[in-house]
Amino acid sequence: MDKSAITGRPVLWMVIPCYNEEAVLMKTAPMFLDELHALTQKDLISDKSRILFVNDGSKDRTWEIIRYFAEKDSHFIGISQSRNRGHQNAVLAGLMEARENCDFTISIDCDGQDDISAMEKMTEEYLAGAEVVYGVRSKRETDTFFKRFTAETFYKFMKALGADVVYNHADYRLISSRALDELADFEEVNLFLRGMVPLVGFKSAVVTYERHERLAGKSHYPLSKMLRLAMDGITSLSVRPLSIIAGVGAVVGVIGLIGIIWAIVTALSGNSVQGWASLVCVVCFLGGIQLLSLGVVGQYIGKIYLETKRRPRYIIAERTWEPYERNYKGGVN
Ligand code: UDP
Ligand code: MG
Repeated sequence: MDKSAITGRPVLWMVIPCYNEEAVLMKTAPMFLDELHALTQKDLISDKSRILFVNDGSKDRTWEIIRYFAEKDSHFIGISQSRNRGHQNAVLAGLMEARENCDFTISIDCDGQDDISAMEKMTEEYLAGAEVVYGVRSKRETDTFFKRFTAETFYKFMKALGADVVYNHADYRLISSRALDELADFEEVNLFLRGMVPLVGFKSAVVTYERHERLAGKSHYPLSKMLRLAMDGITSLSVRPLSIIAGVGAVVGVIGLIGIIWAIVTALSGNSVQGWASLVCVVCFLGGIQLLSLGVVGQYIGKIYLETKRRPRYIIAERTWEPYERNYKGGVN
């Protein structure tokens, strides 16, 4: 079904999280605007489309730069979070801001690593009926071997532990406002959008693109943050680690039982003096397994603790646009 045939040209909001990106934003903001104009000229989207920057509590001049662009061209809009809350929360803040004002959103990082021109294919997929379009990296040649290896291991690990994610898809994706309305009902505080969006369902499509190098500045995702993201992803989407622990516990229990029988038989046959080494081994082994298991169970309890607080997932402190301008869809502006 051609959606635009019913509603006129659809309104797109690009959602772009920015954290300490002064080095790159001056370069990429005009690139986003060019793409928006290109899409408008090809008559794929309405000229009421917008580029929404989400300042994630940056400590440099990022917010000033966003305000500067917003003043210069009305296609740019900015919102600023009250403090740094992390990439996922920034994207969600932007998506929720966009939800009522557009027909579909495309979220993309602000560093120019993801091929901006892939938006055209994404939009075509949307017009052809997809509610969600995943941007998937076709190659990662520009990433360092280490980044590529850790990132690809991450996807495989996630899948093995029961968190269903699209391979090599990060947060470059198109989501229709209809799917966003449903996503809004996913109320978890620990966010992992890559895993949540597939759970929303609806008709989806995949668009592949090549990943480039960052245009300037440096990555905010060192190994430690990637590990945290992986842990968040697994513990918020899957309880398989708990089953694995139970399984390991059962196997270790059986081995322990055999050990006990062996010890009794040895003692009864009168050879029980030796055995210090095996005793230490068993104690260490069991101690290790127990601590590991407690740690994983603790991760889940920690999640439950954070979820029960029901704290807001984002707090918007400033906007470059006024509420009366809202709802572009309704034809205001
Ligand atoms: N980002 C954010 N909040 C943070 C860290 C990152 O909004 O706390 C944004 C950042 O500005 C960028 C995107 O998230 O637009 C992805 O970050 P980055 O490029 O550093 O990650 P990488 O591409 O290296 O995985
Ligand atoms: Mg990047």
